[in-house]
Amino acid sequence: MAEPAWSNEYYHDDENFELLVDEKRSGGRLRQTRQYAAALARSSNEAIQSIAMRLRSCAVFDRCGEGICPQCMSAEKRRFLERVEASLGQTPLSSITIVPTADQFSRLSIPAVDIGNHKTYLKDIWVAAGLAPIPLIAGFDVSLEIFSGCVVGNMWSGHWHGLVPAEHEVAIKSRLGSFLPKTLLVAKPLLLKEITRTPNRAFSYRFKTLFDVHHRHVESFNRRRLVSWEIIRPTHPAFSELARVLAEIGLTSRIIELGGRQ
Ligand SMILES: [Zn+2]
Repeated sequence: MAEPAWSNEYYHDDENFELLVDEKRSGGRLRQTRQYAAALARSSNEAIQSIAMRLRSCAVFDRCGEGICPQCMSAEKRRFLERVEASLGQTPLSSITIVPTADQFSRLSIPAVDIGNHKTYLKDIWVAAGLAPIPLIAGFDVSLEIFSGCVVGNMWSGHWHGLVPAEHEVAIKSRLGSFLPKTLLVAKPLLLKEITRTPNRAFSYRFKTLFDVHHRHVESFNRRRLVSWEIIRPTHPAFSELARVLAEIGLTSRIIELGGRQ
């Protein structure tokens, strides 16, 4: 496989990319990296401390490749956007979010996300649903889900934000739906939406560099509410666990490309 985008300075250089409105310039990404490192260095856990050290060492031509590194993440994101442009650039697109629901319960309180399993599963259901010829390019995202009510527990939920040609939206919805049943924990396992406005922002969301925590109160299958939502910033108690989860997942493996010409 080619070298990872994070180790290639081309993807770190703002001059090579049109910056999105809210994308940080390289100086901002560096400051953010230092802030992340400072927060992680306070952990008593050695593995977390070594993530902090690697973040501090991230420099031009000597990149760290850490899952949570703002500099290396944005390099990977830029390559992701390049790949979208190359494989789907000429077609009207729909955004797609896929939350695998099959084993959600078994993952409650298990602080791990297996990216290999996630990839195999997505590939399997894409083929089983008869969608193999349809191109999908997606980025992996995690969020911390906290449940109260009739389900109590926390989990790191792994899911995909991707892009597909808009013309296949109906087929994907009708065929993939049965592989992604609603559960007590996941009310919307499959979301498709044609991208009509601000495509840049919509594309950018496909490879997340900020991660969320949701607290949901679930009373029954049809009665649930979102109690709170926030971004996991360095001051958040789950920040160091997020760094560990992202380290486990790795940066390059967060991209998947299915179907179409391959
Ligand atoms: Zn880095």
